[in-house]
Amino acid sequence: MKLALALAFVIAACGSSQPVASIDASPDAVELDQNGCPPYPVEMLSIADGDTAYTPKLLQFGQRTYVRFTTSSMHDMNFYIMGGQEQQPFMTIGFSTTRCIYYPQGPAFYDVKCSVHGEVATVRVANPGP
Ligand SMILES: [Zn+2]
Repeated sequence: MKLALALAFVIAACGSSQPVASIDASPDAVELDQNGCPPYPVEMLSIADGDTAYTPKLLQFGQRTYVRFTTSSMHDMNFYIMGGQEQQPFMTIGFSTTRCIYYPQGPAFYDVKCSVHGEVATVRVANPGP
């Protein structure tokens, strides 16, 4: 079983080396996989089927950061501008989805809410500083 998983991983790794999507407008272009994720580690916000809260509940990071959002079959993520008056989310990541979002500039603050159970997380993009 372990061998089968290892082989699957190797095959997946080979497959993901093919550029599916890329940003070619800048000199520091990054090749992204089918979920919009770069090859290096990213910040993560996730929730599994049995969870009753997002992990972490507060996600803070600097600007020019990719964040990987992972939902389960029972929870989704709906994004609202923190302190905004909007009743509808400006972005939704549906059930059983993995997606990376790039945050080019801080400061920015978002509330993330599950449409089924109402659990909430906060995403803070730090101020760029001096
Ligand atoms: Zn939920």
